[in-house]
Amino acid sequence: GVSITDEEGEEVAERVGVRLTSPHRVVFPDQGVTKAQLVDYYSEVVEAMLPHVGNRPLSLVRCPQGRTKHCFFQKHDTGGFPDQLLSRAIAEKDGEKKDYFHVEDLAGLVAGTQMNVLEWHIWGSRFDDVEKPDRLVFDIDPDEALDFSAITSAAIDIRDRLADLGLKSFPMVSGGKGIHVIVPLKPQAEWPAAKTFCKDFAQAMADDEPDRFTANISKARRKGRLFIDYLRNERGSTAISPWSVRSRGGAPVAVPVEWDEVPGLKSANGFSLAAAAERAKDKTWSNYFRLRQVLK
Ligand code: ATP
Ligand code: MN
Ligand code: MN
Repeated sequence: GVSITDEEGEEVAERVGVRLTSPHRVVFPDQGVTKAQLVDYYSEVVEAMLPHVGNRPLSLVRCPQGRTKHCFFQKHDTGGFPDQLLSRAIAEKDGEKKDYFHVEDLAGLVAGTQMNVLEWHIWGSRFDDVEKPDRLVFDIDPDEALDFSAITSAAIDIRDRLADLGLKSFPMVSGGKGIHVIVPLKPQAEWPAAKTFCKDFAQAMADDEPDRFTANISKARRKGRLFIDYLRNERGSTAISPWSVRSRGGAPVAVPVEWDEVPGLKSANGFSLAAAAERAKDKTWSNYFRLRQVLK
């Protein structure tokens, strides 16, 4: 990337055809991570990330003043974004069409970073078949007081219960507090059926072990428990994309891990940009895109 200055003397860089203004502006003050460093990170993980993030409606967390200042979710393309950040219209629940962002290449990720996107959240369905999820997420949300081992053992229990139903699943540390257990699907069931499946699944866990789990979003019911957040599995709901950075202290990344690593994990935010980029060189979740499983 060549750096030049614009008319006002501000530094401007170009990466994969995208104009990057103020590339040395710090976006994660605690880490000193700059816009250019985020671009470098996405350049390193793009091959691993695109199969997960591409071809889907996105919801973006933008932090125009950096992580520690005001951040907001942006669901719709309201204009003013670089062309490389693509958008496509889909119908809202009420039938009205709205433009949703999507990315299909590194230039899209760079364009988002230019617009201070610090988190990439994905729908569970693709533009191809937007009414039928191709992934389910069981988002384990712990009560703050719990030890991380409660989360890893819950993830394994979710895996085993899914396996009893004939479904293979894959674990990801969220980059925040919990683990996401992700089930790749052949798009077949529509959103309402998928949601019912996930709700019943979470409720069954809470019914069997009410001291460990709750399927109720209320914080009061979470005391000393884990909330199995099945609500990610609704049309229009999103979850953090594998390999997205998080707008949290330490600039942690949401990283796919293997089941045999899960018992040894000590936190969900232990992967820095450098550590995540290193891991992205190796294959994880090797059968993820080959499975053609369906809900019964
Ligand atoms: P953690 O492990 O810390 O829980 P997480 O990514 O699972 O991290 P949650 O707080 O459980 O974070 O949120 C789950 C998801 O809900 C987010 O990843 C995001 O996609 C979605 N979400 C949360 N708040 C909003 C919002 N204001 N607008 C749109 N989507 C949101
Ligand atoms: Mn969560
Ligand atoms: Mn949640």
